[in-house]
Amino acid sequence: MKPSPTLEVGGFTPLSTTDWPGRLAAVVFVQGCPWACGYCHNPELRPRCASRGPSWPEVLETLTRRVGLLDGVVFSGGEPTLDPGLGAAIEQTRTLGFQIGLHTAGIYPERLARLLPQIDWVGLDLKTEFGDYDEVTGRRGSATAARRALELLLASGIAHELRTTYDPALVSDEALRSLARLIKSAGARDWVIQRCRSAEGVDKPLPKEALLQALRRELPELSLRAV
Ligand code: SF4
Repeated sequence: MKPSPTLEVGGFTPLSTTDWPGRLAAVVFVQGCPWACGYCHNPELRPRCASRGPSWPEVLETLTRRVGLLDGVVFSGGEPTLDPGLGAAIEQTRTLGFQIGLHTAGIYPERLARLLPQIDWVGLDLKTEFGDYDEVTGRRGSATAARRALELLLASGIAHELRTTYDPALVSDEALRSLARLIKSAGARDWVIQRCRSAEGVDKPLPKEALLQALRRELPELSLRAV
């Protein structure tokens, strides 16, 4: 039998209280992402470079020792669905008894669809309104994948959070308004706007109050995350 491909790990956080709201979780950062968002929070993970993080067996061994101490494990990135070893890694993690969270930008929607039955919660990045997507991601046609991923996630009924990193240089007020309408019309409610932090560690502003009020008229449950 062909062995399962192993996960290319770029980093590991043994305990996080913020990456999966309401859960104590470890976070496995997976290498690789084909997009090039101007504000990327983990640019060092975008290229896949096999020697960067702990090995997946090392991570799994650590997780084995933390059974009973954590609620779940979040697979983040980079874009974790890029990795052909993700499905097997999730299955090994589930077998230990952990719930599974996934952070994704929806770059590979059909892979996401195959993984969804193994996942308990998804944090899906929505970069901006679909008409402006390429300007944020630096990749032509990126909105098509994100739109499909949103459809698949909402159709699955799996618990989720839709989140948008607000960089005022890349996401206009009108784009946020349009995105709020889109989320509402898709039937979703939970939307988080996250503060953007520059590569130099400087916090960018959150949307102004008047804009937030307009967004909350569409989605009263909108929340802010200051990072
Ligand atoms: S999708 Fe995420 S990991 Fe990929 S470039 Fe954008 S912010 Fe970075």
